[in-house]
Amino acid sequence: MSLSKQFIQDTLRQLELPTGGDLVTTGALKWVAACDAIANLRVSLPGEPNQRAMKNLAALIDTTIRAEAASQNIPVERLGVQFVNHAGDVVASFGDAPTAPTAAPPADPRSSDQGSGIPGVRHIIAVGAGKGGVGKSTVSVNLAAALARSGHSVGLLDGDIYGPSLPTLLGLDALEQTVLDGQLQPFLVHGFKAVTLGKMVDPDKPLIWRGPMAHGAFKQLYERTSWGELDYLIIDLPPGTGDVPLTMAQSLRLTGAVVVCTPQKVAQDDAVRAVKMFQQLGVEVLGVVENMSYFVGDPGADGQTKTYDIFGRGGAEQMAQRLGLPFLGSVPINTALRANGDSGEPLKNFEPASSGGDTLPQALTTLARNVESQVTLASMQQSRSKPSLSIS
Ligand code: ADP
Repeated sequence: MSLSKQFIQDTLRQLELPTGGDLVTTGALKWVAACDAIANLRVSLPGEPNQRAMKNLAALIDTTIRAEAASQNIPVERLGVQFVNHAGDVVASFGDAPTAPTAAPPADPRSSDQGSGIPGVRHIIAVGAGKGGVGKSTVSVNLAAALARSGHSVGLLDGDIYGPSLPTLLGLDALEQTVLDGQLQPFLVHGFKAVTLGKMVDPDKPLIWRGPMAHGAFKQLYERTSWGELDYLIIDLPPGTGDVPLTMAQSLRLTGAVVVCTPQKVAQDDAVRAVKMFQQLGVEVLGVVENMSYFVGDPGADGQTKTYDIFGRGGAEQMAQRLGLPFLGSVPINTALRANGDSGEPLKNFEPASSGGDTLPQALTTLARNVESQVTLASMQQSRSKPSLSIS
């Protein structure tokens, strides 16, 4: 047995509150992340509880969980309790709870960009990864498509300026980039808008950029594009944690970042570095996506499908829990996802007939829903202050 979300919920169901009921059934327990011997909890109490009341309740939660864990021989290394208000802002932290990101000065309320820094754009979400080849661009494209399918206005910017893959993944080969009044006109494809440097340079020439040039090119891409009104602008960042992704993440007022990772231990180590990079920049990490999580085989003679955990399904989820981050979902290894990427037809990934069954469409839809929820939470927390983007 180990410290798990289920164990914590079951334990806290036994803890009768002075006001009646328990934290779980009253809905006061908002969030639990638990892994190995580490757990973080978020609790929301009605009204405006004072510091002393929160401290007492945190101590009671701590004692209850540790006592129950000890009785079942479950190790507890770190246990943190945070209190959030009705808007989701962390108002107090106790025990080993992670500290909230530092807040920067409030955004100018007169700005027409609603805080994102780009006129008309409500939320900017960066998609990053510790290294290349883990499916960052695939996740970016399908996230954009899934959000657009659920009725949002969405833009996708290929920030992977060294190896822009959107021309292929979106099937832009036959289309021409147009410029109107000095502004790039995004491609309107698959229900969303997209811009990529890959349509402005020779696809067969290697793109060699020095740091400042790379930053300048990226800046032009996002500043000089007619995005119009967008609910979400997804930025596919270059892989890794080098100068270029770092500068890009720093130059935009991000609502948050999504980190893509495959399940293997070596991939997790890289992803942890990407998480730390965003956190150092004061950018909220919306959560972790596990790509190439598992493989669903064809149905056997009995009509049943078998799932294969090729790379060790769940590794990225455990990493997210260890870091106290939300887990946004798993995307299976799927030959249709690869083929629809190569042919530039992402919407086929949402059709069970073209994507090998329900698993992939459901996984992508769940991922987008979870990202939406985390964006809502993050923007509630940032409603009075935007993340600090300075490195100290
Ligand atoms: P990155 O942006 O991290 O370099 P890509 O998104 O370009 O990675 O993906 C690399 C290759 O892997 C592409 O051919 C893509 O179609 C394929 N791929 C990514 N994720 C999956 C998956 N879950 N199942 C099958 N193929 C995938």
